[in-house]
Amino acid sequence: MSLFELVALPGKGQGLVAKSSIPKGTRILSETPLFTVPNMSAEMLEVAVRPKLKSLTKEEQRQFLALHNNFPGKYPFAGIVKTNALPCGSGAVVGGVYPTICRINHSCLSNCHNNWNGDLELETIHAIKDICAGEEITIDYSDGGPSDTRRAKLRQSFGFDCDCVVCSLPPAELKASDDRRRRIQALDEAVGNPSRMMSNPAASLADCFALLRVLEEEYPHTTSALASRLYYDAFQIAVAHGDRARGKVFAERAYKARVVMEGEDSPETKKMKALSLNPSSHSSFGISSMKWKGPKKFNPDELNDAELEKWLWRQSK
Ligand SMILES: [Zn+2]
Repeated sequence: MSLFELVALPGKGQGLVAKSSIPKGTRILSETPLFTVPNMSAEMLEVAVRPKLKSLTKEEQRQFLALHNNFPGKYPFAGIVKTNALPCGSGAVVGGVYPTICRINHSCLSNCHNNWNGDLELETIHAIKDICAGEEITIDYSDGGPSDTRRAKLRQSFGFDCDCVVCSLPPAELKASDDRRRRIQALDEAVGNPSRMMSNPAASLADCFALLRVLEEEYPHTTSALASRLYYDAFQIAVAHGDRARGKVFAERAYKARVVMEGEDSPETKKMKALSLNPSSHSSFGISSMKWKGPKKFNPDELNDAELEKWLWRQSK
């Protein structure tokens, strides 16, 4: 039985709505693309799409033509692709068009995550927080940042003005959200800086911890892609300085976040699992120093929750 239904939503056209409550981590759907196309101008796209459409079945053509077009005019097929295509993997220049997934609307505080599974060659949609019956299913098409940048980019790329729960907050609350999102961007950039990871691992790790706190504030009860990335960054900081024990815990957390967002069968999830089982197999193990090696006999499983967090983030003062 399907977990959702396609319904008319006031002011938004159509969208998917949960038919029953959906627990966090559930794979709501997975779909192979009707076709994929590289990123190009509308004029070229219109030409590129025609033969692809021709090769589809009548039913698939009908599904494509039923998708929304935010760019009506000279290039109708290109307009549908531009409104709906999702990149096949983060930063990919190739986008896929899907009959059902493309019906999922955007929210800057989405309850689902879309992921291109390169092994299975399909797009998956996972609940990243608990979803109630009747709640709209949403994914985040944006690249983050404060609301003015997000909204401008969404208008330009997908042709709509975002009026999601975040973008329509009262001014004071929107400003607080924008401040957090600016801080998230700055910290995300800082923790991904490899030379700082090497030269000042303590500061990098402190930034990972600060990023986690602000993510919890901005995305409550949600497993965000940024959290999974920050655990992997923390893993790399630890192993670059020979710290197997912390590396193991960070990789386990990155793995758990990936399971929620992408499932056990995603290549990234499998990679995180392998690293959690053998942290020193990572190519940067001990590359910078072995100064965080730690005692051989130490077992973090013996710590209580509070002690574990203090130890993990090296806050033991
Ligand atoms: Zn928004």
